[in-house]
Order: sequence, then structure tokens, then C-alpha cells
Amino acid sequence: METRIRTLDDGARAVSPEALQALRAAFRGPILRSGDPGYDEARQLWNAMIDRRPALIVRCTGTADVIAAIAFVREHGLLSSVKGGGHNIAGLAVCEGGVVIDMSLMRGVWVDAAGRTARAQAGCTLGDVDRETQLHGLAAVLGFVSATGIAGLTTGGGYGYLTRGHGWTCDNVMSMEVVTAQGQVLRASASENQELFWCLRGGSGNFGIVTSFEYQLYPVGPEIMGGVVAWPAADAPRVLEFFREFTAASPRELTCVALMRTAPPAPWLPKEIHGKPIIAVFACYSGSVEEGARAVAPLKAFGKPVADILVRRPYAQMQSLVDATQPKGRRYYWKSEYLADLEPGALQVVAAQAALMPSPHSAIILFQIGGALNELPAGHSPAGNRDALFNCNIASSWESAAGDAANIEWTRGAWQAIKPFSTGGVYLNFLTEDEGSERTRAAYGAANFERLAAMKHKYDPGNLFRHTKGLVAG
Ligand SMILES: Cc1cc2nc3c(=O)[nH]c(=O)nc-3n(C[C@H](O)[C@H](O)[C@H](O)COP(=O)(O)OP(=O)(O)OC[C@H]3O[C@@H](n4cnc5c(N)ncnc54)[C@H](O)[C@@H]3O)c2cc1C
Repeated sequence: METRIRTLDDGARAVSPEALQALRAAFRGPILRSGDPGYDEARQLWNAMIDRRPALIVRCTGTADVIAAIAFVREHGLLSSVKGGGHNIAGLAVCEGGVVIDMSLMRGVWVDAAGRTARAQAGCTLGDVDRETQLHGLAAVLGFVSATGIAGLTTGGGYGYLTRGHGWTCDNVMSMEVVTAQGQVLRASASENQELFWCLRGGSGNFGIVTSFEYQLYPVGPEIMGGVVAWPAADAPRVLEFFREFTAASPRELTCVALMRTAPPAPWLPKEIHGKPIIAVFACYSGSVEEGARAVAPLKAFGKPVADILVRRPYAQMQSLVDATQPKGRRYYWKSEYLADLEPGALQVVAAQAALMPSPHSAIILFQIGGALNELPAGHSPAGNRDALFNCNIASSWESAAGDAANIEWTRGAWQAIKPFSTGGVYLNFLTEDEGSERTRAAYGAANFERLAAMKHKYDPGNLFRHTKGLVAG
């Protein structure tokens, strides 16, 4: 029987059983169609707002599979998407009716402890990499939730607790192996295919399919000083003012994240606060535990916290501390802006908007970034935004479709209120489905966007890789 697959020009093509058989012969991993065991699991994304049914899911087991998948979609003119950890809020990893090139079976990690580098295959989660590097007391610059995929995070920029010390995740990539739209396998680094290397450090999935990343590693842990302190939301104005002063003076080894939300029924929070609004500050000191204890002492001593689990703990545990609050399969909608400072007006907006939050799972989050990332020139990599000191994310999360309207409306309202304080930039990896080319341009800045768009013509003139936050190619 023929398989109807969506084409690049938004039509559909009936692909013959022979053509599919030829793909199976060239491909080592599983190839799934609707109704096959594993199909629904493989198409499911972190964000349940996005529910798409691809015609085929090709699950790559190595670079040769990626080459075969690209050849298949190119030869038949088919729409495709690339799936790493499936965490992209806009659901870019899965295309409707097309071919999903699924990298999530490729999860090998090789650490060179002496050279302080690690090579990780593109299907790895952040947790996969931390797990192996921490065996050596080393860490890559990754994000805050362990189930997030490294590939989308790294190619879109990437930040976490080590960013203040070392820059965006993509600033800390030594090399990548990539398969281009023409099916060529290239190594991109500061000395090989430099232009392509530049594009891949922020240009997301527009330039090829990365099969592995080589990360610079830094000594961290295995134990660090990290965790969270929480206060009742009534204390938010004072805590936020303290957060502003504390973060302005903190060393680069210390990164803090403030968030306002409803207290979840977590064991670290006293029962009487469950379901009530709180303000919490997460902190991670990536240097020695002793220095860390001194650095976080003022935070622990501030006001009258309702909970304090800012303690000596394994770095790997720190890296998964908020995992339970971000489960796969809930409905999510975000709006975010970079801030160059924490102006008093912005902090008032955060406290006032948090009080209106309709869902107990939602949060307004202020991620501290800045530091080393501010020191590189704007054009160092497309991730840009070298003026950002904080990322403010209005992160809505709720259980069922009945809550869509109220939660989206609140998110948009809070976003409008925080926008006047923005640098004008936004994090590419936090853009939702309904954000278009103007927001993509804002994510890169005009100069980086123009340079990327020109490079897109060179590396992917047919716009094969188009299920992305786009750089429209002719
Ligand atoms: C709960 C949660 C926490 C997060 N925390 C952080 C954080 O702390 N720091 C941070 O920086 N970001 C964070 N993010 C955002 C995250 O960076 C993006 O969601 C990112 O897209 C996730 O990568 P993924 O591989 O899971 O994406 P996927 O959804 O699998 O893929 C998204 C897109 O990335 C591109 N891509 C994926 N794989 C490849 C590849 N092999 N080659 C080329 N392109 C590829 C493609 O364009 C693809 O469509 C978080 C997201 C979530 C949902």
C-alpha cells in the first residue's frame, strides 16, 4: 500500500511500497507508521498542546541512518522535522503528515577527562551528559531540567547554572558532526567549516542535522552548594528587592533563579504552605562547597523563609531538582523577554502578575544569566543577546484543554506588562508556535539574522530543513 506523505510545497505525495522498502533497506533503526507499536510514544512531545501525526517516524541509530533519512526526504521532496528531546515548546520536532527524523535513540556519551571534553550524540538528554561527565567531577554548560534534549538546547543557544561563568552552551561547543541537506557529513569547528560552525551555534535546525556535539567541560562538583529557599508570596516585594541586590553583587560561580508560583505538594515544603503562593530562589554555586556556603549565607539568612533546602548536594541532583514540576504531557504556553536589569518597575510587574496566575502549575521565572556571555561580541555566535542579564519567562502550565483560554490570556497579559522592560531580545528556544518571523529576528538581532539568512541560501538552498523557527530561503 502507498503511504501519503506531506511534501515541501504543502501538498502530499503517495510514496510507493518499493520506495519505502528501499528506505528500510538503507536504514538500520525502526521506521514507524500510524498504528505501529511505539508510534504514539515516539510522536508525543513534552507540550501536550501540540498533537501531530507524522506519516513516518524514522528512528536513527547512527550517522548512516541520518544520511539515509535525508536522502529519502530530499529525493521525494518531503516535509521533515528533527526530533531530539522533544522539549521544544513550539513542537518543532514533529511535523504533521511528514517525516520525523528522530534522533532520540542516539544517546552515547564519551568523556575525555584529561582533555576536559565530552562528545555526546544528538539524542542525549542533559541528564545523559551530566551523568557521564560527573563521574570525573566535570560538567558541560547545560540547562536546568534533565529531560531536555541537548541538540535543540545547544543549537538554539542554551543556558543554565554555568552560563555566568562560561557563556551560552553553544559558546562552549568545540565541534559538531553534521549531515547537510546534500547528505554530506562534515565536521564543523573553529578550524573546519567555520561558517557552518557559526551558523550551528544558535541557528537551530536550519542548517543540517547534528549527529554529535563535542563540549568543553569544566571542573564542577561532584558536590556543590545548591538548592532553594522559599518565602510566602506576601514577602515578594522585599525578596525581589533583595534578589536584585544579591545577584548584582554575586560572583560568577553563583547563579540564582527567582520564581513565583503556587507551592506544590512537595515534601521539602511544609504542608501548611501547599497550595499557597510562594516566592522561591534557586541557587547553585559551582565552585568549592566551602566558598559556596559563604556565598549563599545572606540568601539563607534573609527574612523568614518557609523552607530552606539550599545545602551541600551532588551537582547531578541539582541539575534535576525541578524536573518533577515540568512533566511531559501537560499543556504549556510561554512568553519570555530578556532583561538588561531588574528595574523596580519590572519587579512590581512580576509580583502583581503572579498574583493573577490561574493555574497552580504556572510560574513567572527570573533566570540570572549575564557574566561571561556579556563579554563576547554580539556576532560571536547567532545566539547573540550579549546585553542580557536576566531571562524573564512567563511559564504557564495546566492540565486540560478547558483551561487553554484562561491560561493563554493570563500569559499574554503578563507578557504585555513585562515587555516595556525588555532588551528587545528574546530566547529563540522559548518561542511558542504563535510567534512569527519578527520574534525570530528579535531572538538573533538584525545583523545575526541577516547573516544566518544569507548562509541558509548557501547550505540549504531548497529549504529542506524548514520545520524550524525559520530563516526563509528562496
Ligand atoms: C522543561 C523545559 C526546561 C527547559 N530548560 C531550559 C534551560 O534550562 N536552558 C535552556 O537553554 N533551554 C531550556 N529549555 C528550552 C530548550 O532549550 C528547548 O526546548 C530545546 O528545543 C530543547 O531541545 P530538544 O532537543 O529537547 O528539542 P526538540 O523539540 O527535540 O527539537 C527542537 C528543534 O531543535 C532542532 N534540533 C533538534 N535536534 C537537532 C539536531 N540533531 N540537529 C539540528 N537541529 C536539531 C530542530 O530544529 C528541532 O525542531 C527548556 C525547555 C523545557 C521544555
